[in-house]
Amino acid sequence: MIANFIKTIMEEDLKNGKHKEIVTRFPPEPNAYLHIGHARAIITNFELAKSFGGKTYLRFDDTNPAKEEKRFMEAIQKDIEWLGYEPYKVTFGSDYFEDAYQKAVNLIKEGLAYVDDLSKEDMREYRGTLNEPGKNSPYRTRSIEENLKLFEEMKDGKYEEGEKTLRLKIDMASPNLNMRDPAIYRIINKSHPHAGDKWKIYPLYDYAHPLQDASEGITHSLCSLEYDDHRPLYDWVIEHTHPVSIPRQIEFGRLNIEGTILSKRYLKQLVESGFVKDYDDPRMPTLVGLKRKGFTPESIKEFVLSTGLSRINSEIPLEVLDHFLMDDLKMKANRRMAILSPLKLVITNYPEGQIERLSFPNNLENTEMGEREITFSNTLYIEEEDFSEIKPDNKYKRLSLGSEVRLMGAYFIKANEVIKNADGTIKEVLCTYDPLTKSGSHFEGRKPQGTIHYVDALTAKKATFNLFSSLLKEDNDPKAPLEERLNPASLEVVHGFVEEAYDFTPSLKAQFIRNGYYSNDDDSTEDNIIINRTVSLKKSFK
Ligand code: ATP
Ligand code: MG
Repeated sequence: MIANFIKTIMEEDLKNGKHKEIVTRFPPEPNAYLHIGHARAIITNFELAKSFGGKTYLRFDDTNPAKEEKRFMEAIQKDIEWLGYEPYKVTFGSDYFEDAYQKAVNLIKEGLAYVDDLSKEDMREYRGTLNEPGKNSPYRTRSIEENLKLFEEMKDGKYEEGEKTLRLKIDMASPNLNMRDPAIYRIINKSHPHAGDKWKIYPLYDYAHPLQDASEGITHSLCSLEYDDHRPLYDWVIEHTHPVSIPRQIEFGRLNIEGTILSKRYLKQLVESGFVKDYDDPRMPTLVGLKRKGFTPESIKEFVLSTGLSRINSEIPLEVLDHFLMDDLKMKANRRMAILSPLKLVITNYPEGQIERLSFPNNLENTEMGEREITFSNTLYIEEEDFSEIKPDNKYKRLSLGSEVRLMGAYFIKANEVIKNADGTIKEVLCTYDPLTKSGSHFEGRKPQGTIHYVDALTAKKATFNLFSSLLKEDNDPKAPLEERLNPASLEVVHGFVEEAYDFTPSLKAQFIRNGYYSNDDDSTEDNIIINRTVSLKKSFK
């Protein structure tokens, strides 16, 4: 449950009897996939309503027929479900077109709306600026009868797009530009994906939204801060259309991620340019992208709730989200051994071809997760970076020539000789093991230099690892074209090995010991294991 200023308002409204129940809505425009910023709006709406036993609508804001797509609607519904929420009802802004139309006719009858013939450009000209008042349109004084007739004709398709608009008659000198006779209906000669061909006129957001809220009995209409100076218009519409239920708009700060652009236009550009594979590319800040990268809904929820809610836009490093993923998975995910950059070891005093099975806990911090078998043989892989021919200093805790380390869950091994390729790179390291030091035997003869992990080359499975970094270059210039801002090294693909017990199942998560948290890619199969790095332990947020 979250404590914030909106919750306080809701509590008050229930206490003093203004509302009997809390009703909220999440109103996405179905023109792209949702991103992590939307998660704040979703979680806030659903959690607040839930905490008072209320309800939350999912309302597709489809008042503009030009941009919406079915694919996006389905994706949005899936994202919400994935976050663990079930809308009370799924509705469409277009469900309320008839109501909005009737109310517009009433506004005309009350002398509060008029049909304007000004072109878009002229209208902008007449509107004035922040420093200068606007001018009345010459059509502002049309009679009610004429307005009713013209509006009807607009509806019947008698005019071309842009030829006429319906405007509210408020105040062309208002210091708030949104109140200077805002347009509430425009002509669009397109068929609507949900409402079909019925309408030639479409209501604008600032007029349609409060009416939709009122029709659904929304008590608190939550939106991001940029709608702040639209609130007077929201209230005007409610006041002058006399709905049964009175919703109230409350704004909250947007959630931004450092070094990441959360705008649909930008996400679309990334997909359409082919720089990323699709909206669910793990580098994308979309919910489907974060999911594919390995983030859990729980981690996203905790992230959003912990970053709080205020009337200030916030910018948060993505590493904070990493922290919640680790928190979520620490006790839940299997810990496995993986080698991303393999160095081959040959154990010269271990019988060739023999495979020994050893028991090892699935999660050293959570013994309830049981054990699995790991294997040991005369051919092993360790990480390249865990070996140094010459010990760099006395604090060195990995393998070096002449010294001994423990292989996690197995034996002490000692490195004796390095065999090189013609080009000077290491082909393999010859080692010996000490049978007395078997893991679990409580050997106390001497201490190894350190403990490192390994996989057994005879039983290991090949795997492809996708390692991600930011889509944007670190010091990119926000004014430069997108191509120049993109980080060409945002995806690094490496080939290595995972231990025998590793399960390839898509979206299954594991912690690779001494490395990080990983999640199987959606395309991972038994014969082609593909693993996405979610969070690296090495550079994670503290
Ligand atoms: P655009 O207006 O560019 O299409 P949008 O991000 O505003 O994009 P909507 O579909 O209108 O997209 O958003 C649905 C809801 O999500 C709105 O109420 C909006 O205020 C909220 N929202 C969008 N982005 C953020 C964000 N970064 N942080 C918090 N809330 C957001
Ligand atoms: Mg919007």
